[in-house]
Amino acid sequence: MAFDFDLFTIGAGSGGVAASRRAASYGARVAICEGSRVGGTCVIRGCVPKKLLVYGGQFRDAFEDAVGFGWRVTPPEFDWATLRDNKDREIDRLNQVYISMLERSGVKLMADYGQLIDDHTVEVSGQRFSAGKILIATGGRPVLPPIPGMEHAITSNEALELATLPEAMTIIGGGYIAIEFASIFNALGVAVTMMVRGDAPLRGFDGDIRAAVSRELRARGIDLRTGTRPVAVTAAAAGFVVHAQDGTAIPAGQVMAATGRSPNTRGLGLDDVGVAVDGQGAVMVDGWSRTSAKTIYAIGDVTNRIQLTPVAIAEGRAFAETHFNENPMQVDYANIPTAVFATPPVGTVGLSEDQARAQGHEVDIYRSRFRPMKNTLSGRDEQTLMKLVVDRTSDRVLGCHMVGVDAPEIVQGLAIALNCGATKRQFDRTIGLHPSAAEEFVTMRDKVPAPAPVSAPA
Ligand code: NDP
Repeated sequence: MAFDFDLFTIGAGSGGVAASRRAASYGARVAICEGSRVGGTCVIRGCVPKKLLVYGGQFRDAFEDAVGFGWRVTPPEFDWATLRDNKDREIDRLNQVYISMLERSGVKLMADYGQLIDDHTVEVSGQRFSAGKILIATGGRPVLPPIPGMEHAITSNEALELATLPEAMTIIGGGYIAIEFASIFNALGVAVTMMVRGDAPLRGFDGDIRAAVSRELRARGIDLRTGTRPVAVTAAAAGFVVHAQDGTAIPAGQVMAATGRSPNTRGLGLDDVGVAVDGQGAVMVDGWSRTSAKTIYAIGDVTNRIQLTPVAIAEGRAFAETHFNENPMQVDYANIPTAVFATPPVGTVGLSEDQARAQGHEVDIYRSRFRPMKNTLSGRDEQTLMKLVVDRTSDRVLGCHMVGVDAPEIVQGLAIALNCGATKRQFDRTIGLHPSAAEEFVTMRDKVPAPAPVSAPA
């Protein structure tokens, strides 16, 4: 049977665009539809605009630190509208770059949402198109917790577009987005309160990282409240009040929920074509990104595997290699590096100490805390933390963790070492690059004393 296209991709975010372009490069006839803006979460309302705001916030430290290095700085003024509008212009430019890339790759772009009609047919703007294979790459969106008054809260989508900055903001959640936006708004002069329901932010990260992040957020004046969760949000004369389970009431001009994201599947027609979803509404896939419908595949956040742009891209490219280049490929989910762009940032790859122990490894821990050289003259009270988790038997480095300036840049390189199976001995044999913070990762000699064994009850 002749189809209109070899591949029809629903959703032009990072994953869908990568898969479509790669498939087209092998001669496939590809169409992609997008009801919002080409570029998806990462480019339009996630990683990229967020990082531009992070850069904006970092100037606060630069102005303050400059004084110790001999610069006379008149009190600088910050204008949110300038940063926001310049950021928007850059996002518009990138949106156009993505559209041009699709055009140059020969991928046909349709500017509307798509709906599955059957396992070879997608409907866009009332028109039906047939395709040999269909790829769902519709991403995710922020979710608001089901708490009375939560409709008053903004999410990261709106936080990027605020008309004005509030004097005070309460951020609910302690994950990536909560921490990144708390750092951004704190740096831009907003009084930030964070409500975290666990005993520290960043659940799932190494315990030392969580403690170090908590310390640095508080040192910057962020009111980090742990063991607390919202039960209601009410409107007040000058903004809103978040009511916590312990009876405290936190007033703020703006409330932001950063409480996770959920897969975009509404209106796709998954039920009609027999594509199964899990309890969270994510499209269920196997290691080849196959859904329960034979000709329909899914990649990226809509599958809720690992919600990271480079993972979605890798899944998209593996799909295209497998089906359009006779090069069967699966994504290796081990040792995926990740960063939290807080101030200072977190970079991490591999297993946390707890994960390593839980997996049965006997581990040696190496940990270093130090004041970065730059802070000697600036007087800034900010520490860097580095940690290695090493398997005692094989000497393999299982995890590298860092909180400190440049952590994401440093950890990206270490991820290669971990993927090559590097041992602690090989780290030690590597000559340090001096003077740098990164050299500490190859000069850590002393193991952290093992925790005392828990004595058996009498
Ligand atoms: P996360 O899952 O990282 O964090 C959600 C946070 O909200 C957790 O602290 C969670 O607490 C808390 N939470 C959830 N429900 C409630 C509730 N009802 N009341 C109070 N607190 C609640 O989600 P994010 O929204 O921060 O980010 C989504 C994903 O996007 C991330 O997991 C990440 O994969 C990706 N991302 C990556 C970035 C990067 O690479 N730099 C940047 C931004 C996002 P608890 O831990 O107790 O469940």
